[in-house]
Amino acid sequence: MPDLKLSALERPDTLKKLAEEKFDLLIIGGGITGAGIALDAVTRGMKVALIEKRDFGWGTSSRSTKLIHGGLRYLKQLEINLVREVGRERAIIHRNAPHIVHPENMLLPIIKQGSLGKRSTSLGLYVYDMLAGVQRKERRVMLTRHETLKLEPLLRDDVVLGGGLYKEYRTDDARLVIEVMKTARKFGAEIVNYTEALEFVYDHGKAVGVEVRDHWDDRTLTIKADKIVNAAGPWVDGLRQLDNSMNGKRLHLTKGVHLVLPYEKFPLKQAVYFDVEDGRMIFAIPRDKITYVGTTDTNYKHEIDSPYVTADDVAYLLKAVNHMFPKAELKPEDVSSSWVGLRPLIHEEGKGPSELSRKDEIFYSKSGVITIAGGKLTGFRKMAERTVDAVAEQLEKEQKRKFKPCKTDRIILAGGKLKGTKEINELIETTITRTGLNKVEARILVEKYGSNTPKILTRFDKLEAKYPNAAQRIIAAEVYYTIEEEMVVHPSDILVRRSGKVYFEREEVETDKPIVMQILADTLGYTEAQQEGLEQELDNDYNKVLAFAK
Ligand code: FAD
Repeated sequence: MPDLKLSALERPDTLKKLAEEKFDLLIIGGGITGAGIALDAVTRGMKVALIEKRDFGWGTSSRSTKLIHGGLRYLKQLEINLVREVGRERAIIHRNAPHIVHPENMLLPIIKQGSLGKRSTSLGLYVYDMLAGVQRKERRVMLTRHETLKLEPLLRDDVVLGGGLYKEYRTDDARLVIEVMKTARKFGAEIVNYTEALEFVYDHGKAVGVEVRDHWDDRTLTIKADKIVNAAGPWVDGLRQLDNSMNGKRLHLTKGVHLVLPYEKFPLKQAVYFDVEDGRMIFAIPRDKITYVGTTDTNYKHEIDSPYVTADDVAYLLKAVNHMFPKAELKPEDVSSSWVGLRPLIHEEGKGPSELSRKDEIFYSKSGVITIAGGKLTGFRKMAERTVDAVAEQLEKEQKRKFKPCKTDRIILAGGKLKGTKEINELIETTITRTGLNKVEARILVEKYGSNTPKILTRFDKLEAKYPNAAQRIIAAEVYYTIEEEMVVHPSDILVRRSGKVYFEREEVETDKPIVMQILADTLGYTEAQQEGLEQELDNDYNKVLAFAK
């Protein structure tokens, strides 16, 4: 098999192929849904193309709570099949991408007048473990009041009655998208970012292609395909409108905000999922140098491209945190960053944001366009399987061809060739020895690139003369790698999504920025105008996470 890479340097070749060849399947949307479909379809033997109008994961898929989870709250809503499916999926994703999916204990405090008592929590977590097929050693443990407060001393001690400790899986959503995308590329999918679907092209009423705009090279082209899947997340209804197929169900967007707090301001020892006074529940999750909290869940009817955090969102989350962790005494000025995403849920008459099902659904249009909507990051592989089953069935009928069954449960994702914690720890040790990074920094690097970390280290060695400073040399190595293997084109691609530094390591953005700009400009040949515009985009991304609308 040729060593195919998702390289920004190969964009012109990819676009040439997209313009000249015909595909079995064209996917619109480069979030987790589109990425999963591309991987599933290409590994069944289809000729696949995928376009993303901004950067991979730029939409909702980089702005989630970053958990691969069984969805405890769906158990409360009696969505048994959903809990079962996503619960089982966790284990598969963890096995196939051990560098970005990590099991972690989650504490569910039982509080006076909370939504769940001791018995119901114990029973609920037991049922959850059974449905999700959780291994015996990872099953829930019930804690006394004393044990709960010992585990998390910041919890308010006047209301805690006890707790339940269960397993969740922490992830990096944007990196999960990119690893799935890289894997799909490895198997031959033609994938490109900054390319937007503008119009469908029809022949006798059937959609046979899409007119697209390549925003990078500023040109328009047509991509021809037998099947077109609309996997545009919150934007799917916009594309359905273009296709005149907005009949029946529609999306219901809800907004979710997360706040980032410096670890010293909110030094949580343990991830906690806790009750809010209005009956909702939110997460507080320590992660390296910060703790993040979220999420809100409110109806959203404004511009989809640029949702924003309001001062009310900040007040709501801080009030909830201060109520449960009064010693933290958090104020709006303590917030160091934030992100906001839109859930592409399916509308159900009379239901409020938190009551809407997180199930996915496929819509078929008369023109043949297939839309996949709803769902969760966690269920992406099964969503892809169902969508590609539908595509395969149609192609088999129409073209008398036969495709292989889904096998993505057995495909190790890019960076995932690591056998368990032992090998991950060895890689962390090697990284420390070769770079001089401290343990936390080395772990952050390994959890980003997994079994591809040695490629960064090789590049690091080669750059010694040019960047004598080790911290600068590391980011330089990452920029080269992500241009060549993760289609990084804009500085925000690496500093916001590939590395998450704008959210989690803001002090490094300042020092990394000149290096990132220089290497990108030299390697990709930025014009002066591009350089100025892209630097502005990065500055906006950097500043907007602290701009809270009144
Ligand atoms: P998106 O990620 O939005 O991708 C769609 C893409 O299509 C976008 O990148 C967009 O740019 C592109 N696009 C749009 N129009 C066009 C066009 N015309 N041409 C080309 N491209 C186009 N799920 C979990 O499992 N765990 C969680 O912890 C979790 N937490 C969440 C917290 C919040 C606040 C939110 C909002 C969601 C959360 N979810 C979680 C749900 C999960 O994030 C989403 O279900 C998932 O990311 C949706 O992915 P998607 O690919 O369908 O949409």
